[in-house]
Amino acid sequence: MEKCDANRHPIRNVRAFRSALLTWFAENRKDYPWRRTTDPWAVLVSEIMLQQTTVASVIANRRFDRFLDEFPDIETMATASEPKILKAWEGLGYYNRVRNLQKAARAVLEDFGGQFPPEAAELEKLPGIGRYTAGAVSSFAFGKAAPIVDGNIARVISRLLDERNAVDGTIGQKIIWQAAADLLEINSPRDFNSAIMELGQTVCAPKNPACLLCPVRDFCQCRDPESLPVKKPKKQFVKVDEHAFFHRLGDKVLLAMGRGSRRRGFWHLPLREPEACAHLEAGDLHRYVITHHRVTVHLYRADPGGLLKGEEFIPISELADLPIATPMRKILESELGQ
Ligand code: SF4
Repeated sequence: MEKCDANRHPIRNVRAFRSALLTWFAENRKDYPWRRTTDPWAVLVSEIMLQQTTVASVIANRRFDRFLDEFPDIETMATASEPKILKAWEGLGYYNRVRNLQKAARAVLEDFGGQFPPEAAELEKLPGIGRYTAGAVSSFAFGKAAPIVDGNIARVISRLLDERNAVDGTIGQKIIWQAAADLLEINSPRDFNSAIMELGQTVCAPKNPACLLCPVRDFCQCRDPESLPVKKPKKQFVKVDEHAFFHRLGDKVLLAMGRGSRRRGFWHLPLREPEACAHLEAGDLHRYVITHHRVTVHLYRADPGGLLKGEEFIPISELADLPIATPMRKILESELGQ
């Protein structure tokens, strides 16, 4: 592995590089809804949303516009109830992100007099806002010369530099962020950051990069692009077995209000320890993956026998309006025959 040298800079003519990239972008840029605004709240929403969902899915389902219709500003977000924000985020997963969006909205109101700070270093002090998101809001909303590195940009830069350190490791991160700062066109950071990201999304794709069509191929150092970026070995999945009850009484179904980091604020089927289910006939099996958990739900169509704290019968007609995580909603719909 190469020794770390964050100041090493194999792209010699940086001006020509910037010019080639920006010329290509001017002719090929995509018209996304979040590129039509410089409202920092809207930019922040788009960035958080796009961390977990593809651009195509956000556009197709109008997720960005619909969320902003419901929460057009930090005031609306700061005062919304938790069930309401969780419901609005349903289907996007990683619900702590929308909770952090609300915390950030409150912090802007309380600590910054209702105005987003323009500098990345200040934005990074807001809850749930890391280095990338701070740079994105600073450059896209305020036009500040803040570098950004997401997965697409890390791939482009690692290939441009033929960087063999893991891009998600400490040394690799340092090199890639330094290069992102060095390459940035400080006179048009908004366009530059969008351009290098879009190059990664369209031309410098993970598989089969279109090097022959690449506007910056003359500056690119790598000979085997598909071998880059190098990444640290992936975390192993953790297998989880859950024993859940589907207990319907007339037009109501028994649900539990979630607690703990994975389910807080969400309704789910009541769960019991495996020993409490040993005497029951096994029912359907449902499987889903969430973060790094592979979950198998052993479902019993039975009365769990007595209600635990947080459990209650909920009218089936109200399920559509309640916060229920997507995998659990699918199980419920399947059991209800919907
Ligand atoms: S030449 Fe190929 S590998 Fe290099 S930046 Fe362009 S698309 Fe990526």
